[in-house]
Amino acid sequence: MKKEDNTSLWTDSTSSMNPALAKDVKVDVVVIGAGYTGLSAAYHIKRHFPDKDVIVLEAEYAGYGASGRNGGMCLNQPSSDYMSMAHPKSHKLTYDATAQSIREISEMMRAHGSGDDIRTCGSLLVNCDENGVEKSKEYATKAASLGIPIEYWDRTRVAEELGTTVYAGGLYDPNAAEVNPMKLVHALKKSAENVGAAVYENCPVLQVKEGAPVKLRVSGANGKPLTVAAEAVVLGANGYVTKLGFFRNRVIVAHTEMAATKTLGDDAISELGWTGRIPYHDDRIYLYYLGTTEDNRITIGGGNAEYYFNDGLAYRKNLNRRKLALKNELTRIYPSMKDIEFEYLWTGVITLSLDGAQSVGVIGDEGNLFYGIGYAGHGVTLSYLFGKVIADIFAGRDDEWKEMPFYKRRLPSYLPPEPMKYAAVKSYMSYLRFRDVAKRR
Ligand SMILES: Cc1cc2nc3c(=O)[nH]c(=O)nc-3n(C[C@H](O)[C@H](O)[C@H](O)COP(=O)(O)OP(=O)(O)OC[C@H]3O[C@@H](n4cnc5c(N)ncnc54)[C@H](O)[C@@H]3O)c2cc1C
Repeated sequence: MKKEDNTSLWTDSTSSMNPALAKDVKVDVVVIGAGYTGLSAAYHIKRHFPDKDVIVLEAEYAGYGASGRNGGMCLNQPSSDYMSMAHPKSHKLTYDATAQSIREISEMMRAHGSGDDIRTCGSLLVNCDENGVEKSKEYATKAASLGIPIEYWDRTRVAEELGTTVYAGGLYDPNAAEVNPMKLVHALKKSAENVGAAVYENCPVLQVKEGAPVKLRVSGANGKPLTVAAEAVVLGANGYVTKLGFFRNRVIVAHTEMAATKTLGDDAISELGWTGRIPYHDDRIYLYYLGTTEDNRITIGGGNAEYYFNDGLAYRKNLNRRKLALKNELTRIYPSMKDIEFEYLWTGVITLSLDGAQSVGVIGDEGNLFYGIGYAGHGVTLSYLFGKVIADIFAGRDDEWKEMPFYKRRLPSYLPPEPMKYAAVKSYMSYLRFRDVAKRR
């Protein structure tokens, strides 16, 4: 599939692109990638150090990656501990940190005139069956004991809110939000620029040579080869980072799909019975998630993840088959949508670690390569937060984060080189799919 065929619904709101870097430079910090992680890191580093030179180098345009392609669910908690709570103390700490991030994101968007592009309407995790209901009830009880305001909703309450009876119950988090993903990219880009960071687009980093300084080979304006030297580098390239040689044995680069209907008219969504338009996702491993847009479309994504040989970045599957799967799920949930066509269909790249956990920290012999990675499909809030944590680690003011499960977490490194990686990842993904199916028998 050609890249230009694969832009998201949100890309329509892309603002004009900045020029690429035009000459060799020596700076304090280079951020690779203008997604949420990179832009948040640039913004927060400049807040700590107004006098440092911070530049962001983006291969395509700000929001080209998952940040401009996601479902817009601003969720609390990392996915690895989402609504499960292995360790109550750190669970509460991370809940509070992510809820605070959502408040900061809302404020930032309001400050940039995008206040209407984020709704703190809460989110629902819906249970596909009674097994999930038991877990949800148990979680809600533990959450209440920690002062986390997440509620269990039974089948009737979920149906009243969503207008569908396919779910057995669910967990409602009042602090979650729904955001226009690209508008958040733009608010972050503007915020980073306003504090003095420079964002260069259409400017891919081709090579990162570790050292002090780090030396980067970059393709600048008109494809001119450039050299950039930096005291520190932020690896904000998410799934694309393995192509620069980092985390190859620790993360799986996976492709996932999303679709959006045509605009449905002012009242159509509330007529479905989805009255408060709370965005939601189910409790499968290959989960589906649904939301609505300001111009009255329904979005649906998930149900699948694809891995291509050697962390392949081009989407190679037949998208029409995925379109059908997404349509079938939408119609299963809302039978009255059976004749509604999708107007948009796109894919995006996520990273999965082998223990499902995320990590933010610093690597390299010189301790000057900062990263945030492993968000899976649950990284809107977390990537913003990790940008902030990166800035605090860089500034040596990271005490606040040391008890968090994601802080400098060592991700398992069992992934072998290709061609074994391909075989291992495909088997692992099939095993996860089998678990999803077996659970429902
Ligand atoms: C279809 C889809 C739906 C999702 N839905 C949700 C959701 O509803 N809720 C949620 O919480 N999470 C969701 N996610 C996950 C979330 O979008 C990501 O976790 C988050 O956006 C990651 O941000 P990032 O900045 O780390 O990476 P990205 O947004 O991927 O940014 C990386 C950037 O680096 C650039 N880049 C790559 N290589 C280079 C290079 N060599 N030189 C320079 N630049 C480079 C890329 O062009 C890209 O712009 C979804 C993801 C996808 C794909």
